[in-house]
Amino acid sequence: MKIQICPVCGSTDIYYEAGMITGEKYKCNNCGYVGSFILEIEEKDYEEFLKTIKNNQHK
Ligand SMILES: [Zn+2]
Repeated sequence: MKIQICPVCGSTDIYYEAGMITGEKYKCNNCGYVGSFILEIEEKDYEEFLKTIKNNQHK
């Protein structure tokens, strides 16, 4: 099963917003990211992804 996550903060708190001209858009409730690009990963890989995000923030 795949889950949708925010490419910025890794939150799964993503909401779909229908766009008009720009097409489909997503909004992250956690960091406020808005865009058409989101990440879709396997649920089992999510924990690993969170570690990656955490590591990146420490650089
Ligand atoms: Zn976010």
